[in-house]
Amino acid sequence: MSRFAQVATGVAGGAIAWTLTEYAVHRWLLHGPFGQRSERGGLVGRIPIGGIHRNHHRDPNWSVVWGRAAGHLAMAATGAAGTRVALAIAPRLPTVLTVAAGATWSAGYSTYDIVHHHLHHRAPRTRLGVHMRQRHFRHHFAGARTNLGVTTGIWDRLFGTEADPRPVRLPAATAPWWLDALGDEFSTRAQSRHAA
Ligand SMILES: [Zn+2]
Ligand SMILES: [Zn+2]
Repeated sequence: MSRFAQVATGVAGGAIAWTLTEYAVHRWLLHGPFGQRSERGGLVGRIPIGGIHRNHHRDPNWSVVWGRAAGHLAMAATGAAGTRVALAIAPRLPTVLTVAAGATWSAGYSTYDIVHHHLHHRAPRTRLGVHMRQRHFRHHFAGARTNLGVTTGIWDRLFGTEADPRPVRLPAATAPWWLDALGDEFSTRAQSRHAA
């Protein structure tokens, strides 16, 4: 395989692997063992990512800079370590392809974190930006078991967890000032005009 083909395949594989990781961790860990049950304590309850995610659901505007910075570094290290382990276990793997996949996986996390921060803290400027905020706000305010993918909805559609496009009510205290940009399905009023 040429060097270019290795990079292209590695980047594509790393991107697919990241988006699946994002979906799986959010669905089966953060809304699984790290979800409600762990609030009672125990080993799982002491792992900070569960608490960070629960706080994020209580107040979506809550954000800790050190936590985000640590996440970027930890996930870069995890990608690098995973690449080394993969090459140690399977030395016949093409090195350039494996390094490209590991680097893209880590970059996928950083992209996710920046995108997610923007979804809550910045007004949308494009139709895609509106769509992504609508999807993610449904996860927060219409059903936490739906729309578990943040950077892409592909895995939600594949696993059947894409939310229905019903009207969504947000608590006025945490609603962003640009909420109107998401259309009249998203409101802080008790009853949407579309509600039955
Ligand atoms: Zn969020
Ligand atoms: Zn969540």
